[in-house]
Amino acid sequence: MANRDLHLTRNIGIMAHIDAGKTTTSERILFYTGKTHKIGEVHDGAATMDWMAQEQERGITITSAATTCNWNYENNSYKINLIDTPGHVDFTAEVERSLRVLDGAVATYSAADGVQPQSETVWRQADKYNVPRIGYVNKMDRSGADFYETVRQMKTVLGANPCPIQIPIGAEENFKGVVDLITMKAILWHDETMGAEYDVEEIPAELVDEATEWHDKMIENAANFDDDVMELYLDGKEVPADKLIAAIRKGTISMELTPMLLGSSYKNKGVQPLLDYICAFLPSPLDTEAIIGTNPDTEEEEGRKPTEDAPTSALAFKIATDPFMGRLVFFRVYSGKIAAGSYVYNPRSGKRERISRLFQMNSKQEIPMESIDAGDIGAGVGFKDIRTGDTLCDEDHPIVLESMTFPDTVISVA
Ligand code: GDP
Repeated sequence: MANRDLHLTRNIGIMAHIDAGKTTTSERILFYTGKTHKIGEVHDGAATMDWMAQEQERGITITSAATTCNWNYENNSYKINLIDTPGHVDFTAEVERSLRVLDGAVATYSAADGVQPQSETVWRQADKYNVPRIGYVNKMDRSGADFYETVRQMKTVLGANPCPIQIPIGAEENFKGVVDLITMKAILWHDETMGAEYDVEEIPAELVDEATEWHDKMIENAANFDDDVMELYLDGKEVPADKLIAAIRKGTISMELTPMLLGSSYKNKGVQPLLDYICAFLPSPLDTEAIIGTNPDTEEEEGRKPTEDAPTSALAFKIATDPFMGRLVFFRVYSGKIAAGSYVYNPRSGKRERISRLFQMNSKQEIPMESIDAGDIGAGVGFKDIRTGDTLCDEDHPIVLESMTFPDTVISVA
């Protein structure tokens, strides 16, 4: 049996060159997704700053290995597990391990700096682990910001197929909003207060031709991934938005296309549409292939699908120390489920471990969970002997998900 609503789950990370805005974008994602719980603070810069200061003091959100948040898109509530992807290349095993547990990522660039050498390293790692991506060109307010140049560099430097879903309205200090090429409407940010909202309006007259040209390019690109869209495109007929989105999603999941969005996270511009398109284009755990592991008894490869009735398999990808809860082990459950109070088997140590309590972290606090089910991410306490990269599984159906070629790393987040 598949998890209820698993198609509405997104396990994603933000990948970026240092300084491109990974932290700022993550903070804004947590702000907007948590906003419904903080009524009255929307236009109040001071309150928001306080909230972020508290979060930092608590140390749970920004430093958390995985934060769970919800976002409403097209009348559905999506569960987004935002997994921390290190922005540095020193801990290669750690970077690669965090990429392994993602189903999709947002590749973030600074519009003023374009595709930098380290962006290339992370891009190649994401290719290796088959992580479909959305491109997000941040810092559109910065001097020298150039969306089109970054898009061009993604083609020339990374060999990607970037497909703008938005084009900018203005840049640098005149960055006012975007034209959404799917709805062919302008999104105009209100102002620069924390938590800025936006208005949806007609496309400014001087941008209509340019937007139409990019809209047509987008459809031409999307048509390669869906026969219906191709037929409508060849017949010169209008392509309905839902069909267009489905085609772009297919291209994204097969990693043949990278939808491109833009904004300025620091100025709170562009993050809500980014969240919408994370839901629209990035895969759910059901869209990814079964994970392959090795049965340690037979040394044969086995695939595990994200269903709850399959034998349990999970990968521990980060060990962190929370000042309030102690040692927390973050893991992704690939098949079956892990229940609080139950035992799991660790094939590396050959021991059974009792997981006393389970949690998911949201932007405010840890949420106790009875179980973490296939396709989901969570954290447990109570482990005695555990390292990152360890597999947790049923003793009767052992499996090792990660080959032991990585050095052991136990990273603590104080
Ligand atoms: P990270 O290293 O990728 O996590 O980058 P940060 O989020 O820490 O951002 C690096 C610096 O760029 C910080 O000083 C941010 O305040 C700043 N920054 C982030 N986003 C933007 C943006 O959209 N516009 C401008 N002007 N600055 C930004």
